[in-house]
Amino acid sequence: MKYLQFSNGDQMPALGLGTWKSAKGEIYKTIRTALEIGYRHFDCAYIYGNEHEIGLAIADAIKNNEVTRENLWITSKLWNNRHRRDDVHPAIETTLRDLHLEYLDLYLIHWPVALIYDVNYPQNAGDLISLEHLPLSETWHEMIALKNKGLARHIGVSNFSIKKINQLTTETGVLPEALQVELQPFHQQNDLLAYTQNKGICLTGFCPLGSADRPASRISPNEPKLFENATILTIAATKGCTPAQVMLAWAINRGTSVIPKSVNASRLKENLAAADIVLSETEMAAMNALDKHYRFIKGDFWCLAGSDYTLDNLWDE
Ligand code: NAP
Repeated sequence: MKYLQFSNGDQMPALGLGTWKSAKGEIYKTIRTALEIGYRHFDCAYIYGNEHEIGLAIADAIKNNEVTRENLWITSKLWNNRHRRDDVHPAIETTLRDLHLEYLDLYLIHWPVALIYDVNYPQNAGDLISLEHLPLSETWHEMIALKNKGLARHIGVSNFSIKKINQLTTETGVLPEALQVELQPFHQQNDLLAYTQNKGICLTGFCPLGSADRPASRISPNEPKLFENATILTIAATKGCTPAQVMLAWAINRGTSVIPKSVNASRLKENLAAADIVLSETEMAAMNALDKHYRFIKGDFWCLAGSDYTLDNLWDE
């Protein structure tokens, strides 16, 4: 297993398990199986609605001496309706209670989007709060406080652009230690990769396999299909591995961490084994040539008519 290193020497395993869409009633067993197989990095979020069950699985595994807390890397994320100054600390307390943990290894601001307190997903512009009224720096100051209190060992952001990270850093004096964004062969974000490497920010890619189990409302007609891509299939056939392993190995070989989601025991094993696959320079070059700037998670669900959010100012591109 490769690791991404933080400035204090802490190490995050390059391959972790995604938990979005892993259903209640299913995720407990998945986490126990994943721990048994050797997963040590888990990517969670309050909004996934399953942290309580993940917490039970982790607590039981620790109780049974199958793993120690120190050997785990647990990430979670602050949801958009808890960005206000007074809401950030209670939000991490809820997540820590649900996960049965005393601290997180990494806590991220999930999106650069603010919602009113009672709303998880906006139905109309009135559910959204503009960043002018609730600046990301207000939330980030509270995230810094959580780190100082030891509730999160590291803090970062997700779905932020270079522009937003620069602005946050200028306004607060504290650079995010980690960034999580969509990264897959059709959306490689090389500028972001270079920026994070230059700044010493650990970069994690989500939807590394194209997130086929997304809600149907978030799937566009005629999406390009990673699992049918000829380059990926050819490299898999040549190396005697699977297409998913090629995508995950590519991600790790380019220096990012990656968090594929699975609730299937054999795919959990397959995905973890990808962390040890090395692609040749030629194979990496062939994968690098697949970029189409195509996002599977478009973020258009935030950009409601009458709100200040647009795709242009969400992604800053
Ligand atoms: P993903 O990991 O790209 O894809 C998950 C899908 O791929 C599931 O349908 C899964 O099915 C299938 N799969 C897994 N392994 C496979 C394999 N070896 N071969 C074929 N199919 C395979 O999508 P994702 O869950 O959207 O993204 C990964 C994680 O990133 C999330 O779970 C979440 O933790 C995080 N994430 C974060 C954000 C953010 O805003 N920060 C956004 C999206 C996702 P089975 O489960 O049946 O195996």
